[in-house]
Amino acid sequence: MESYESLVTKQRDFFRTNQTKDIAFRLNALEKLRSAVKLYETELITALNDDLNKSEFEAYSTEVGIILEELRFTISKLRSWAKPVKVKTPLTHIGSASYIYSEPYGTALIISPWNYPFQLAAAPLIGAIAAGNCAIVKPSELTPRTSEVFSKIIREIYPEKYIAVVQGGVETSQSLLQEKFDKIFFTGSVSVGKTVMEAAAKHLTPVTLELGGKSPCIVHEDANLKLAAKRIAWGKFTNAGQTCIAPDYLYVHKGIKEQFLSFLKEAIQEIFGGRSLTRIVSERHFNRLTSFLNQGDIFTGGNASREELSIEPTVLTGITWEDPIMEEEIFGPILPIMEYKNLDDVIESIHTHPNPLALYLFTEGTGIQKKILNSVSFGGGCVNDTVYHAASPYLPFGGVGTSGIGAYHGKSSFDVFSHKKSVLKQTTLFDIPFRYPNVKNALKSI
Ligand code: NAD
Repeated sequence: MESYESLVTKQRDFFRTNQTKDIAFRLNALEKLRSAVKLYETELITALNDDLNKSEFEAYSTEVGIILEELRFTISKLRSWAKPVKVKTPLTHIGSASYIYSEPYGTALIISPWNYPFQLAAAPLIGAIAAGNCAIVKPSELTPRTSEVFSKIIREIYPEKYIAVVQGGVETSQSLLQEKFDKIFFTGSVSVGKTVMEAAAKHLTPVTLELGGKSPCIVHEDANLKLAAKRIAWGKFTNAGQTCIAPDYLYVHKGIKEQFLSFLKEAIQEIFGGRSLTRIVSERHFNRLTSFLNQGDIFTGGNASREELSIEPTVLTGITWEDPIMEEEIFGPILPIMEYKNLDDVIESIHTHPNPLALYLFTEGTGIQKKILNSVSFGGGCVNDTVYHAASPYLPFGGVGTSGIGAYHGKSSFDVFSHKKSVLKQTTLFDIPFRYPNVKNALKSI
């Protein structure tokens, strides 16, 4: 196993020079990243196409464009985020003033997955830089072309004592995790998330874990069905369903199921018909996914090409919680549909499974919205849409329970890479005697 001790030490030494804490330094680093992403935009889009057969539209709208927008937002807000915040001081502390300073942790480790290989490596890095940290990023080995372009960009704009990319697979990741970091930010599966947290525990390193799970989508009988079908088809089948917050399965009210299904078929055809499909990342995942195709009944789709590693957007009906497809996160273009009559049964079944990363509810009724939002715990989600919440810099993005710890995007990315240092600035003009143990004497001295 290769050791990364000297790289981490180099970054630690550089961090101690305090240069990364300077706001002008951070803004300059973010500007450099923005210019480089613009410069290498075509190369990134080509790499994403090579790795996953992502279309130019998808590569821009879900990866490059998202990062450029995150950079624009962060650069415009950083000065105000980084200011110490003056907070109230209780009467008992009269004469003093209270402040919260946001200080960088030091050297951060960022480990990212393959499904949005550029976005999910670059977005946490923006937070790390904005907060004034040094960082090592370990992108996914399953998307080597994108990881290579990302690595080239970083090498060109930053010295490795400040920001470095280490490429490699599981062993590299494990070897990095042996080192003592000041912050670890991991995006990936629940099982690897546990390994990361165990490694972090040895050094008591704070972690942010962006994990996965089965995200439900509920279509209630009073929903705008045509729009629901369109928004669900888009959220589920974009990136061939390889999106952590894609609707994993649907609960559709029995009374409108037939009508909804016909709208869904139309929407899939309208959005994805005749387009080349994003590739399933590996043969292992292709085999896992195609094994689901013989469960329930295929309502639409069902064709797969081993040669292209592609699977048509597929909808399965007649699925129950006993089917293997309902055991784990699907992470592919297969959408199982279950029906319900009573919303309480849906709530009950979600409760008996781990906390979802996302939940989507389609309804026109505010009472129904209230009921679901009040009774189900999930990372984040949408009412009458899917996935879109993740693209707002004003909404912290993260999981709860087994779907993750912590949140990022926008100011939350700055916060997640900052320690909040509380400081009380006391006056020396007078002293309040009551807090000293010998209160009697203290009182005499007033
Ligand atoms: P993964 O957990 O297999 O891999 C993620 C990263 O961890 C990769 O860089 C990989 O090299 C590394 N890794 C793999 N095994 C390791 C081990 N044993 N020890 C240390 N490091 C290891 O995840 P993946 O397959 O790349 O991504 C898919 C998963 O990620 C899905 O579960 C999905 O829901 C989740 N995900 C979550 C989010 C989110 O924001 N919450 C975003 C994207 C993906």
